[in-house]
Amino acid sequence: VWGRVKNVCKQNGLLILSVLAVVIGCLLGFFLRGKQLSEQEVKYFQFPGELLMRMLKMLILPLVVSSLMSGLAALDAKCSSRLGIMTISYYLWTTFVAVVVGIVMVYIIHPGGAAQKEDSEDSKKPMTNNIFNHMHYTYRTQRVPELIPKPTVAQLLDETTTRRVYIYGIQDDNGTDVQNFSLDLTPPPDVIMKTSPGTSEGMNVLGIVIFSATMGIMLGRMGPNGSALVNFCQSLNEAVLKIVAIVIWYFPFGIVFLVAGKILEMDDPSAMGKKLGFYAITVVMGLVLHGLFILPAMYFFITKKSPIVYIRGILQALLISLATSSSSATLPITFKCLLENNHIDRRIIRFVLPVGATINMDGTALYEAVAAIFIAQVNNYELDFGQIITISITATAASIGAAGIPQAGLVTMVIVLTSVGLPTDDITLIIAVDWALDRFRTMVNVMGDALATGIMAHICRKDFVKEGEQVPLICETK
Ligand code: ASP
Repeated sequence: VWGRVKNVCKQNGLLILSVLAVVIGCLLGFFLRGKQLSEQEVKYFQFPGELLMRMLKMLILPLVVSSLMSGLAALDAKCSSRLGIMTISYYLWTTFVAVVVGIVMVYIIHPGGAAQKEDSEDSKKPMTNNIFNHMHYTYRTQRVPELIPKPTVAQLLDETTTRRVYIYGIQDDNGTDVQNFSLDLTPPPDVIMKTSPGTSEGMNVLGIVIFSATMGIMLGRMGPNGSALVNFCQSLNEAVLKIVAIVIWYFPFGIVFLVAGKILEMDDPSAMGKKLGFYAITVVMGLVLHGLFILPAMYFFITKKSPIVYIRGILQALLISLATSSSSATLPITFKCLLENNHIDRRIIRFVLPVGATINMDGTALYEAVAAIFIAQVNNYELDFGQIITISITATAASIGAAGIPQAGLVTMVIVLTSVGLPTDDITLIIAVDWALDRFRTMVNVMGDALATGIMAHICRKDFVKEGEQVPLICETK
């Protein structure tokens, strides 16, 4: 028995360490919460976690560019268009299913109304206080408190909304949401950043994907003339994966501080209020249903292979998404897991995965639909059938437009709420629990991309057998 245990530990050492890191992070976080650390101390404490985020973010750009350029250049025109159409259609389909799951859940549980009956007037108090505390905290961490008089609630609401909106580049004084979105699709020469001002954190991943995919298709058509650049991209891709193999050993350490640091920052859970609790439960139940049952069932029906084995192969990536709340930051790990554990053809991964991490966010779409209807329920606002259809379409669009970074979905919610005339200010109602829900929806986002890659590998397996080759290039999952 000891021998077997040793074997399992040897094979899954890193995974076991990462799970332990999440547990230790939680324990450490709750223990230190009682110690009343100062903001400065919390910042120092969070440093190793911040370092992990930086390492992951550093790898996103070279990985996406090299994957798409070398991946698409290697496919012939027929293969790439078939794979492209199948992938995008599948992504839209699963996102739509996620939205439907969210809508059904929120109507069954009715989180906005359930609590209303019990504590109609008072229910608003703890929530407002909680939001106030949350935002006051955010405010304090951004500014030097002594220099600035304590702000009013209205100022805080304004500050938080504006800051988030600008960071993620959803709105711009010089243009509408739609204009800015289209501008980001066709990026300017510097390609990398979003068009909106002050978006130092807002890498324009969707623009980068479109640019690299177009370059990849053209390089493929150029034949031998394009081979120098294709070889360069292939080497870059290999190099990024080698770097991932090294930094992956830092993960367990980084995760401890990332998780504990977040717990130190969070609001007092007892102040959350009933409605918000029901809302959080609705989102989590929807995510569990979609991520653990519906998506794996689709994988099973299409490929006839075990989704459990497949999901085991991507556990490391799921843990990283839980710790980082970012599907883009998780991308390098998902790539490595699919390649090394699930043995998917790298030509498929190179296309399906970066595109998925950018536009396919089932968890985000589900959450946006639930949140919008929850806000309608809280406001006693009856939605008609047409408005529910509008919510499903805009929630799908908002999830496509959301970047794979922490809490991006909270910002694209503006699109969903405005589409049916709900007050956008009410986004602040759900801010208090968003940091936690973000982690779970990011896990579902990553799970959706990874399962889609396996499904595409199965569907397109015949396209990828080279002439005269006996063995399909797509290997079976072990
Ligand atoms: N954090 C999510 C992701 O990276 C996006 C969101 O829903 O906020 O996939």
